[in-house]
Amino acid sequence: MISSVYSNKDIFLREIISNASDALDKRRIETLKNTELAENKNPEIKIEINPDSKTLSVSDNGIGMSRDDLINYLGTIAKSGTKEFLKAVKEGSENTQQELIGQFGVGFYSVFLVADKVEVVTRKLGTDQTYKFKSDGKGEYTIEEAPQRSECGTTVTLFIRENKSEDAKNYLDEWTIKGIISKYSDFISWPVIFKDETVNSRKAVWQRPDSEVTETEYNEFYKLIAHDWTDPLMHIRINAEGSTNFKGLLFVPSQAPLDLFMNPESGGISLYINRVFIMNDCKDLIPGYMRFIRGVIDSEDLPLNISREILQDDPFIRVIKRSTQRKIFAELKKLLEKDREKYIKFWIAFGKIFKEGFLLDKDNAQKILELSLFKTTYNDEWTTLAEYESRMKPDQTGIYCLAGLDSVAALKASPRLEQYTAKGYEVLLMTDSIDEFILSDSRFILPEDSKKLLDISKDDVTAQSEAEKKDAEEKLKALENDFAPLKKIAMELFAEKIEDVRPSLNLTDSIASLTGGMSFQMEKMMRTAGHFVPPQKRILELNASHPVVKKLEAIANDDREKVSDVLKILYDQSLILEGAELDNPADFARRINELIAFALGD
Ligand code: ADP
Repeated sequence: MISSVYSNKDIFLREIISNASDALDKRRIETLKNTELAENKNPEIKIEINPDSKTLSVSDNGIGMSRDDLINYLGTIAKSGTKEFLKAVKEGSENTQQELIGQFGVGFYSVFLVADKVEVVTRKLGTDQTYKFKSDGKGEYTIEEAPQRSECGTTVTLFIRENKSEDAKNYLDEWTIKGIISKYSDFISWPVIFKDETVNSRKAVWQRPDSEVTETEYNEFYKLIAHDWTDPLMHIRINAEGSTNFKGLLFVPSQAPLDLFMNPESGGISLYINRVFIMNDCKDLIPGYMRFIRGVIDSEDLPLNISREILQDDPFIRVIKRSTQRKIFAELKKLLEKDREKYIKFWIAFGKIFKEGFLLDKDNAQKILELSLFKTTYNDEWTTLAEYESRMKPDQTGIYCLAGLDSVAALKASPRLEQYTAKGYEVLLMTDSIDEFILSDSRFILPEDSKKLLDISKDDVTAQSEAEKKDAEEKLKALENDFAPLKKIAMELFAEKIEDVRPSLNLTDSIASLTGGMSFQMEKMMRTAGHFVPPQKRILELNASHPVVKKLEAIANDDREKVSDVLKILYDQSLILEGAELDNPADFARRINELIAFALGD
């Protein structure tokens, strides 16, 4: 129960203030029906402490209660299960107390966490009888007529018991009470007054119409809740009405907040119930891949005593999560269409996290892909898939992608691109480690009829006609004899590292390229994460039409040593182009130095 909302007894005050706030809301609603009767010139919640009589009282000038209301709302709970409840509360440990409140769902009765006795003096709106309800929480209660209150409303008076629990908090102490009030009631829309001072800031920003909240107010509110010092990129308002009522005010930060890494507990989405703060970082309200979003969800339909455990399988919460998610998708889409510059900022800061959704939330994978930005060989700008598709050549079998290196520049230098660039195809250059997983899983995730993401380093994606294929086969066949001695040397030289050496027709500028197996980046990542990765044997491709390869073929039978030297350099070179580490960098440097010396005519 550590993670329960009921971290301590303080919550009694939250419950009472929340009831008072409700009562003021109800009176306000009455005003709409019957102006004269209900008009409240000075709505307020007033908290007083009196150390002499050891009392704490919370007064409101809200709707008040009739005799029947007292019986029905407070008396019934007093009679039913509360006897055991209160016995257990008195004898129980902090944990059992909390568990019990959760179980009984008795908001008002949480007063007995701190009080021996409670008195409620109340006058209902539109009546002129005032009643006093008394209970010592032992199962019995009394209701009697009391001297007339000047205005409708309710005063709840708690006779505070000495606090013997570990925290030993004194609920008659001014600073203690002030602290609790500010903690729980800051965004209550009614003034909460203590010692003639309004303690709450009353900025329930999300309850006010969007048109009435200034950009500055949104920004300030964001900074307060997100502990960020830069303005957010944008805010998202949610106003769900219907079977599930809730309001949301969410923010997309403009940079990854430090808190995202340093103090995840402080961030995320805070849950409010009827403007009463319930808990922060409510992970059940938002999918994990949207964890960079900050903000508040406020619902009237949830019980105040809801705990984190209950949240997980609460159907309401699931509905809230679904519609929040839908709204975020919609707003991001809007931003992408309307403000590309801002969207790019969002993408740079959070794209990596957002893309996790492609793998984790298969139902929305397509949507996530549509909202993704990519670098491509087309130009230096970010592009969407839709934009890529509009530029696709008619004979393309899908979207050509290249991943496996963590910089665009490195990908652009990859020998694997050469045949595509030569033929004028555009290729997505994917630099995040998650991209490789996206590429390998996309065939299982994306719908049958969608454009396929093709990994040009793995899939055979070249759009060759049958005639072209046949032609290529014949050409390679014709090369076999000349290539054989060179192949023999290479196979012996790299016996442990490669599976095959082949002449290639796909390379234009590069002499050699390593293909096959998992990418070096992925291999390294898996090993770092402690996974067992079997040795990856790759294929060394040599550019069949390159003069260097021609020359090597020519001397392979006569100068094995020279050929070996050059092959070692070519192999290391292709490792570098794949972003892999060399087995022996010093050896590579030495060979290059020899070549330099030779070239300079030493
Ligand atoms: P809940 O607030 O979850 O309904 P509570 O035990 O806190 O449960 O309160 C029971 C009911 O008592 C409330 O729903 C409300 O009708 C009534 N009530 C409690 N406090 C007040 C108040 N200050 N003014 C008017 N009605 C109140």
